[in-house]
Amino acid sequence: MSYLIQNRKPASVFRFFEDICAIPHPSYHEEKVADYLCAFAADRGLEYYRDDLHNVLIKKPATPDRKDAAPILFQGHTDMVCVKTADSTIDFMKDGLSLYIDGDFLRAKDTTLGADDGIAVAVMLALLDGELSSHPALECLFTAAEEVGLDGAEGFDYSKIFARKMINMDSEDLGIITAGCAGGLRSTLTKTCERIPVKGECLKISLQGLFGGHSGVDICSGRANANKLMGRMLAKWQKAEGEAHLISLNGGSKDNAIPSICEAVIATADAQKTTALIEQTASQIATELAKDDSGFFVTVTPVQAPEMMFSTADSAQLIAILATVDNGVKEMNYNIKGLPEWSRNLGVITTTSDEVEFVFASRSAIESRLDASIDELDALGRITGCVTKHYSRYPGWDYAPVSPLRDLYAHAYREITGKDAIVDVIHAGLECGIIVSKLPDLDVISVGPDMRDVHSPDERLNLSSVEIFWQTIEKLIEMV
Ligand SMILES: [Zn+2]
Repeated sequence: MSYLIQNRKPASVFRFFEDICAIPHPSYHEEKVADYLCAFAADRGLEYYRDDLHNVLIKKPATPDRKDAAPILFQGHTDMVCVKTADSTIDFMKDGLSLYIDGDFLRAKDTTLGADDGIAVAVMLALLDGELSSHPALECLFTAAEEVGLDGAEGFDYSKIFARKMINMDSEDLGIITAGCAGGLRSTLTKTCERIPVKGECLKISLQGLFGGHSGVDICSGRANANKLMGRMLAKWQKAEGEAHLISLNGGSKDNAIPSICEAVIATADAQKTTALIEQTASQIATELAKDDSGFFVTVTPVQAPEMMFSTADSAQLIAILATVDNGVKEMNYNIKGLPEWSRNLGVITTTSDEVEFVFASRSAIESRLDASIDELDALGRITGCVTKHYSRYPGWDYAPVSPLRDLYAHAYREITGKDAIVDVIHAGLECGIIVSKLPDLDVISVGPDMRDVHSPDERLNLSSVEIFWQTIEKLIEMV
């Protein structure tokens, strides 16, 4: 294989990263990358372990001069979010990525790059490959299925880990040490609706152009949720119409993204009046929105009437869920300024023949608040005739006031850059929460080089920051 990135240090990190980009590795399809990791370990005579989830642990003994030093655990996930532009013809199950360099950034043509978290995989491989001449025992844990609910980290057998210091490399800002994160869970409310013959004219209301974003880190950005705005417009229309009838509701595509689009098809007695009302409400909303959402617009178009529509009672319950469910930031953190503590995102709505499903992501570092999120949605489900389901729950990672590893990394970072790293706690999930719940005496930090727009085709990895990140890790290992 010929390599794109030249003259960067250490070459092995960039070479391993390019190797990984050539291997398809969507979430739940980590088997090929796990094969690669096991072959890597076998080739070098390193001890390795692989489980049914395709998690891989590789260990490298200490160099003779560091025999007495405590082992250290490095960790990152092998799966990537696969998103492409409308023009891309890539098959993420079969094809490697087409990499290119854009200034100081590495990108993939029309797709996500998977630097989240392929760069962690590459750094661990470089460490295991013998890039450092002196180090304590290294344990490198490559987890699967992080992006789809942290399943790999949840299912791993931690009795195989001896280190009590862990560096997770799933953060995206070189100058930031992440030291805590929220827990979360997903919930669905599913309503089976009665269909009755269509009366009146049918309209498609299409809400577009919102900015969207990550349902954790961007939840307090002030950006609007397309599904919730649709609820507001439909509630207004229902009041004017009296007997409102929905035909379908579809919005968003991921539970952990703030939805930027939503579409409703409705049946109305007066299409002209309804169109005017929706357009008027949309223009009112447009004046209220944050600057990020300046692309917001709504179209109302007549559509051919299908045969059936939802009954009045079921339509009213659907509109009630959409319009009233608590969404966005519920509580801010009382101790850390600007940090959301408890939130909910109505990410996805899907209509199939007679069912409408609402998918939510709730987050909090406090377990009893996640319990309360469940109780609230169950209560709403009960009065609206929905079946509720809660799944993919993972614990938060509490900020530890004392962390020798954090101090050590901060010291190493200062030595390399002359700058102070910022210690931060985030309102998003990291595998650290699960791993700490399994190994409570683990001292943990989460760090990484600079990445931008992860989970989108604009994802890019800053090459210089990878070099500095490596030097910081090298320095830390020297001092540990
Ligand atoms: Zn990640």
